[in-house]
Order: sequence, then C-alpha cells, then structure tokens
Amino acid sequence: MISPLEREMLVKNICTKLNRITNLKSTMDSVITDLKKLTKCDAIGLRLHENGDYPYYSYDGFSKSFILKENSLCVKDASKDKCNEPDCNNNNLECMCGNIVKGNFDPELSFFTKKGSFWTNDTNEPWLSEAIEKYTSNIRGNCVKSGYLSVALIPIKSNGEIIGLLQINSKQKGMFDLQLIEYLEAICEALGMAIDNNLIHIKLKEDEELLRIREMIEKVKFEFFINMSHELRTPINVILSTIQLMSANIKKEGTNNEYNEKYLKIAKQNCFRLIRLVNNILDITRIDSGLYELRMSNYDIVEMIEKITLSVKDFVEYKGLKLKFSKSIGSRIIACDPEKIEMILLNLLSNATKYSEYKGTVTVRVESKNEKIIISVKDQGIGIPKENLEKIFERYKQLDNSLIRNYEGYGIGLALVKTLVEMHDGTIYVRSTPGKGSKFIVELPIKVLKDSDKAAKFNSKINKRIDKLDVYFSDIYEL
Ligand code: ADP
Repeated sequence: MISPLEREMLVKNICTKLNRITNLKSTMDSVITDLKKLTKCDAIGLRLHENGDYPYYSYDGFSKSFILKENSLCVKDASKDKCNEPDCNNNNLECMCGNIVKGNFDPELSFFTKKGSFWTNDTNEPWLSEAIEKYTSNIRGNCVKSGYLSVALIPIKSNGEIIGLLQINSKQKGMFDLQLIEYLEAICEALGMAIDNNLIHIKLKEDEELLRIREMIEKVKFEFFINMSHELRTPINVILSTIQLMSANIKKEGTNNEYNEKYLKIAKQNCFRLIRLVNNILDITRIDSGLYELRMSNYDIVEMIEKITLSVKDFVEYKGLKLKFSKSIGSRIIACDPEKIEMILLNLLSNATKYSEYKGTVTVRVESKNEKIIISVKDQGIGIPKENLEKIFERYKQLDNSLIRNYEGYGIGLALVKTLVEMHDGTIYVRSTPGKGSKFIVELPIKVLKDSDKAAKFNSKINKRIDKLDVYFSDIYEL
C-alpha cells in the first residue's frame, strides 16, 4: 500500500497529465503505468467504444490469451441485452464488464458504487458469488478463471454516455478500498473529458489539414490555368499574325482567289474563338481565386451602353439583323467598372446575334426604375425553353448538347456575365418564348462613388492587334 499523501500526489499527476493531453495513445499508456503505481495492481486495461464494441485501447499486465478470450461487450443497441452485431453470439451481460458499459448496476449492492463502478477484493468470496449470481449469470468469467482476485471496473463517460471502462485486476486479494475507487472514478472522469477534448483536437487538426490541402490544390489549379492560358495565347497570336501576313502577301501578289480568302477567314475566325475561350478561362480562374477585382468609377451608364451597342452594329447587321438602341432616360451616373460592363453587354449581344436566325431585330434598352438601372438585350431568335431559363447561367451549360451543334460556344459566357453583374451588386434574369425570342435583363443599383464627383468618359480600349469585337463575335459565322 502507498501512503495517503503519495496516493493524492499520484492522482493529481494523472489528472494534470490528462488535462494537457496532446497524443491520446501515448498519454493513455503513461496513465496506465501511473495507475499501476497508484493501485499496485498487476493488470490494467482501458477499453474504449469503437464500431459497436469495446476493444482494449491500451493495456498492461494482461496476457495476450486473456485479451483474446475477453468477451465482446458489443452494446450497439442498448435496449437489448444480447449483442446485436451480426457475427457476435455473446450476451454482453454475461460478464460484469458488459454490465458496467451498459450502466447496468444496482447501487444497493455493496460491490457497486453510486457512479456505476464495480469492485471486489476477492472474486472467490462465497457471499459475493451468491449475490452476483442473482445479478448476472457469469461471475466466474475470464477474470476469475485467470486467477484475478481483486477486480475493479470503472465506467468512463463522455457527455453523460458511457464510452469505455477502466479494468484494474490483481491476483492478490484486498487491493482496493472505497477511497481508492473514488479516486479512480475521478481519474475516469478526467479521462472522459480528455478523450472528448482530444477528439475535438483531432477533428480541428483534420479540418485544418483538409483546408490546407484544399488551398494547395486551388493554388496549383490556379497556377496551371493561368500558365496554360498564357502559353496558349502565344501560339494563337503567332498563327493570327501569320494569317494576317499571308493575307497581305496574297493581296500584294494578286494571287487572291475565292478559296484562299475563305480558308484564311476560317483560320482567322477560329483563332478569335480560341482567344475568346482562353480569355474566358482566364477570367473564370481569376474570379474563382478571388483575384478578380472591379475598378469602379462614376460613369454615365446610358452613354456607355449606347456606345457599346453601336460598336457592334456591323457584326449584327452582317448576320442580316437590325440593331436598335432605345432609352427612357437621358443620362444616369453610376459607379461601375466599364471594362466589365462592356464584357457583360458584348456577351449578351453576341448571344442575341448568334441565337437569331437571319431576320429580326436585336434591341438594347436602358431604363431606370426603383433606384435601379435596367439594361435589356432583346432578340427575336430561337428562344429558350422554360425549364432551361435558370440552367443557362450555370458554367459549361449549353442547351444544344448534340454532337453536331447548330451554334458554336463553350457555355462559359453567361456564367461569367452573371458573376460580373453580381460583383456590381446587380441581378440578371431572362424572359423567353421558344421560337419567338429572348430578353436578358440586367439590373444594376444606382450608386455613385463619393470621392470622384465627376463622371469619367467611357472609351472602349480596343486592342490594336486583336480586335475585341472580332473575338466576341467569332462564334457567328458560316462556313
Ligand atoms: P455559349 O458559348 O454556349 O453561347 P453561354 O453561356 O453564352 O454559352 O450560353 C449558354 C447557353 O444559353 C447557350 O448554349 C444557349 O443554349 C443559351 N442562350 C444564351 N443566350 C441565348 C439567346 N439569346 N437565345 C437563345 N439561347 C441562348
């Protein structure tokens, strides 16, 4: 026996250790060594709930054959006495451990404590077996057969539920007293909390790790797309410049003919289509990585929409369509990013042209209602079935998925447009009747930047080398 002071010191040490837990397994192993010192018992085991049973998580002093012979304590369904695991025939109430993990005890019996622990200083005492036999049928189980005379079984609880048990055995009689059992119960309370905290800690660490991996994947993905897009742009530009040189040479040499012209046009148009795709991928990648920012200034939105609309007149008319611009207000200053507004409108206008047959009118209108600017692009084209009105704003969604599609495209444009509108705190929706046409409506809030009181002039910066409009309208052609 150890002195009461030594006992108290050891209990304190164990509780401190459990409070500062970093690694559950190594702490449990070390606690078991301390418990051996505290109880002077030969065999100590910690059984924790896992997959419906209570396997030994950590133990010391039990023989391998003892551990193997230990009953399964499966208690998946606490309302049943029998274990309900498919391949387990054990009745978990046959051994005392099974009763303890099920919280099955009678506080009136002296070998149970009020907290549901079991303890005895001599498993061979005739009175004990009699009393227990009334309670459970198999007191002479593995422990007794293995010669353990002192046995203590303390439940471990977490949030009021029993999650395991501490099993302390000795082949000597009389190893326990009630105070020691109460100390062991206090240790098991600390153990339950430590397991809880450790699980939270593990979960947090796992979450952190997952977040780190996700961020890493996003970074690699982002860098890949950015690099790939830049790498693709270079050869496309080279091809485009070569085509332009070839056209100029053919013209100079006077060897121009119908076929040369047609094939060079096809090659050039497909370069523009590739540039549009690469630009869209670059924009979407930048948006996804949070690197896409608006450059806001105050602009007259009515003038801006009119200028952009008129800039595409030739392209729309090339397809035999009429282009109309109308407005219900003279001018209205709002804060916006002109480059992104141009992207929004050029996407909507190129779609209106692309999805119109060779007749009809494309109408752009600017109005103001309820502190909002309403920009609409209306066509008299093929229209969109009702069930697809929402889907078309999703990324890579194209309604015509047939192998031989009637219209070129990648299903990125409207997803990008929606994001750009939303970045302006606006909304976009569509009204459409199949066979009659569609109307895309963009609503932007009327907000101005206070620090720049004068409105800037809108000037579309058209890249000298690659005409932006050629790129936007590259899907609209006939071979
Ligand atoms: P795409 O490059 O395929 O045109 P978008 O994102 O711009 O991609 O459009 C997605 C889909 O929405 C298109 O494939 C088309 O089916 C439909 N759509 C877009 N605009 C119109 C329109 N004005 N009229 C009819 N259908 C349209």
